[in-house]
Amino acid sequence: MKITSIKSVMIQGSWTWTLIKVETDEGICGIGESQLPLGVPDILQRIEKMIVGEDPRNVIQLAQKIYRGLSGAGSTGGSILLAMSGVELALWDLQGKITGLPLWQLLGGKYRDRVRIYADTGRPGDRSPEAYADGVRERVEAGYTVVKVDIDHCAPAEYIKDGHNRALSRQEVDHMSAVSHAAFDALPDDVDLCLDLHWCYQTSDALRVARRLEDIDILWLEDPTPPENLDALKYVTDHTSVPIACGENHWMAHGLRPMIEQRAADIITPDIPRFGGIQEGKKVAELCEMHYLSFAPHNICTPVGTVASAHVCANAPNFLALEHHGLDCPWWDDIAANWSGPVVDRGYISLPDAPGIGVELNEELLRAHLVEGEEWWD
Ligand SMILES: [Mg+2]
Repeated sequence: MKITSIKSVMIQGSWTWTLIKVETDEGICGIGESQLPLGVPDILQRIEKMIVGEDPRNVIQLAQKIYRGLSGAGSTGGSILLAMSGVELALWDLQGKITGLPLWQLLGGKYRDRVRIYADTGRPGDRSPEAYADGVRERVEAGYTVVKVDIDHCAPAEYIKDGHNRALSRQEVDHMSAVSHAAFDALPDDVDLCLDLHWCYQTSDALRVARRLEDIDILWLEDPTPPENLDALKYVTDHTSVPIACGENHWMAHGLRPMIEQRAADIITPDIPRFGGIQEGKKVAELCEMHYLSFAPHNICTPVGTVASAHVCANAPNFLALEHHGLDCPWWDDIAANWSGPVVDRGYISLPDAPGIGVELNEELLRAHLVEGEEWWD
């Protein structure tokens, strides 16, 4: 069996999604997903030249070939890895279709039959604590047992003294605390709350916020400081009792290794279809497990990338929760043509037994949501 082509198509949903297809000379194809298509279609053409004619069963070796082959163009981070990850997902899907096995089985089996999904809540137009509380209640009604609220920039604009210095005014910290407490108080005891700071703040102010959250039992506070400086992150983690999550802006297992080894965060959040793919996700989960850290992947994908991530999560003993960022796209679940019910059902994904990732695309639906100028991959 040989790879004959790589195709991609961009879909406009809650984000611009990039779906990837790897075709073979035996008519079997694998479907993967990349993210944030900055340069990805061009890079895919380069990757296609590198792997056409290769045996698609050598998934790990082919991913390494792409990684090493594009090292001069910057494969330690950025769009090269977005494209490589999407191809790697498609190769795993293909591997499943060749063998007839679901991805979770190819990875060595699963610890759980269904994967706990956490729901992002949007930013309400009204930035009052009550509006945020209403937002989390909606997610609880939809069946979620973990919800996340973005508390960066949740304060009224007049509370912000300077939009450039990463510093927080007293009014902002008070408002962030009030929003967090209101959201927490709105949740029943069996639902967890996560809060996200989106790497906006300087170290001491991120810590001021964390300390104001120590009296509520939240699952995690995410990305307190900008992503480049591990020492700053570790300082926050070391000086608060609030569990700190980080990882969505890091690339490959190597990029997360120092964070894990130095315990600069408590919960590690790689984005599997973006940061390096399934094999790298499994590596990170295992490295976290060796350091008794939790694994909770970031995710903004269609059902293709989301279910692919769910297979890795099912395979990791230290898995905590997987993100779902498509709740406000009313046709998100319908993308998976072969699922009888919603992909995310009452806050969980049940692992499919279909070969590979287990998501067949609803072509008619996706054709109706192509990014302007895009054509379907016939
Ligand atoms: Mg985040």
